[in-house]
Amino acid sequence: MVNIYKQIVKKIKEYDEIVIARHIGPDPDAIGSEIALRDLIKHNFPNKKVYAVGAGVSRFKYLGVLDKVDESKLTHALLIIVDVPTFERVDSAYLPRYDYSIKIDHHPCDHKVCDLELVDTKSSSVCQLITELIYKTKLKITDEIASKLYLGIVADSDRFLLSYTTPKTLELSAKLLNDYNIDLMTLYNNLYERGLDERRFEAYIINNITVTENGFGYIKIENDIIKKFGVDSSTASNMVNDFNFIKEIKVWAFSSYDEKNEQFKINIRSRGIVVNEVASKFNGGGHKFASGARLKTESEVDDLFNALDELCKIEKQKEE
Ligand code: AMP
Repeated sequence: MVNIYKQIVKKIKEYDEIVIARHIGPDPDAIGSEIALRDLIKHNFPNKKVYAVGAGVSRFKYLGVLDKVDESKLTHALLIIVDVPTFERVDSAYLPRYDYSIKIDHHPCDHKVCDLELVDTKSSSVCQLITELIYKTKLKITDEIASKLYLGIVADSDRFLLSYTTPKTLELSAKLLNDYNIDLMTLYNNLYERGLDERRFEAYIINNITVTENGFGYIKIENDIIKKFGVDSSTASNMVNDFNFIKEIKVWAFSSYDEKNEQFKINIRSRGIVVNEVASKFNGGGHKFASGARLKTESEVDDLFNALDELCKIEKQKEE
């Protein structure tokens, strides 16, 4: 069997210009994995030019600084996309500019998009996949790189809580903790510290979420509410995971309006009902229990919410 890990390292060795990109609207696993991968390539191959690209997010600036690259000046470059299944959602990289492409991801995708792919939908995170790549090859890392990888695993598995947490997730995390000096106090402060404004906004959501008799919880967050609480427009999206384990809610979804791109951003989470198939019918997709969508009109948002409620209804009927 071809060793995918060795093949990835071989390709990295072949190219002197390497660009690493991830999805738009990134989370700590997306930014953590692209920066960790950039830094580890630079650490092992100091003469290579390696760039981690995409729009910066102030809330994740503790993960490191991102790069800008003029793709028209690249001559013989390798593109590595992480944490994104297809090119529609890649931030700041244009595939035809590259001589070779690699995907490292854990999202489901029914077709091949890059020349070489390390895709494992059973992996908790891309940071877990990169940790695996390191331990299966001779790549060296520093304490700082290990900390970023550990942080991405913790964030995407929701502190080893979600069902994507496997023995491998725990083994690789334990190895990182054992082999490197990871400052957990700083790491968890960076990841979980919130201002009072955000906590109050969270309380607003709890007080205003609509829950159907089928166990579907939803809320449309208006921009004047976001302004009233003085929070960031991405705050709702970032806190959607915190609404897990509410007894009356099996599937929940937030809608917020992205003024810049003139579209509704939908975050969907579930405690056991598969939601990504419905999301993919509404210009979205994602994991079985954590999906998202981008919609142009409010009536499409209503249609998606109705479809999710219908899913809950079907499941409820099965249980009765
Ligand atoms: P989020 O709620 O933004 O954290 O997204 C949850 C999951 O759904 C992530 O794995 C995203 O990659 C995926 N996702 C979010 N929005 C979309 C979209 N418009 N199309 C496809 N997948 C998406």
